[in-house]
Amino acid sequence: MSRIVYVNGSFVPEEDAKVSIFDRGFLFADGVYEVTPVVNFKLVDYAAHVERLTRSLNELKMAWPCTVPELRTMHEELVVRNNLAEGIIYMQVTRGVADRMFNFPKDTRSSLVAFPQVMKLVDNPNARMGVKIVTTPDLRWARRDIKTIMLLAPCLGKEEAYQKGAAEAWMVEDGKVTEGTSSNAYIVKGNTIITRPISNSILNGCTRRALFRMAKEHGVEIEERLFTPEEAYAADEAFLTSASQFVMPITEIDGKRIGGGQVGPVVRKMRELFLEEAQRG
Ligand code: PMP
Repeated sequence: MSRIVYVNGSFVPEEDAKVSIFDRGFLFADGVYEVTPVVNFKLVDYAAHVERLTRSLNELKMAWPCTVPELRTMHEELVVRNNLAEGIIYMQVTRGVADRMFNFPKDTRSSLVAFPQVMKLVDNPNARMGVKIVTTPDLRWARRDIKTIMLLAPCLGKEEAYQKGAAEAWMVEDGKVTEGTSSNAYIVKGNTIITRPISNSILNGCTRRALFRMAKEHGVEIEERLFTPEEAYAADEAFLTSASQFVMPITEIDGKRIGGGQVGPVVRKMRELFLEEAQRG
């Protein structure tokens, strides 16, 4: 059965979904996106994603493609029309369709497309054993705080990871870990989670924000500072966060076992807290 997707105001079967070759998303990657998890037919942490979308659009001086309530209704409709029990809703806004020129077109409407993807978020088999990751140079531009659809560098990093039998790559700049290709990066020492502070160098993850709140509520310390791959190799635990993985344990980095190759207590607890909250709805 094909999915029902959303294209500029219409819900259509995916085979019938069409966008213009002149869309600036296609020509320039001139667009932004969000990925919202769905658990038990409910959107998880939706407000945080809208807040970040608003910021991304403002930073790029891109117009909203619809009203804020319309965007929520569209998300909910996609869940219902696709009977999506668990997975994600991907949505992207681009600056719209115009003749190819670098400067922004006048009087062009933003484009909006969205689609669901079925995924196992709660009972993700990777979470039991943890995943392997590798490190790779960070090749991205200087505004990684904006969630743009310009993802070639992350694609290269992820492909390198897969070629090496790993699930993710942590990107490294000036000797320090920035973040994963599609996730934020953390190490643990004792009862303290260490992660890079928010800046233009990384994306402010919605899952990261939720993690901070839950850690505070449950007496887990967070230290925001830069760390090196070498420090990560020697950490007690390591993990990543993203909307589609929640909290994912990492048990190997660049072939070196973390925490004896076992999933540690802090990451286990944080994942449990996430799953409880997501399932509560
Ligand atoms: N950093 C990058 C580069 C990402 O692509 C993502 C996932 N979109 C994240 C961090 C995690 O953000 P979130 O928790 O909002 O999914």
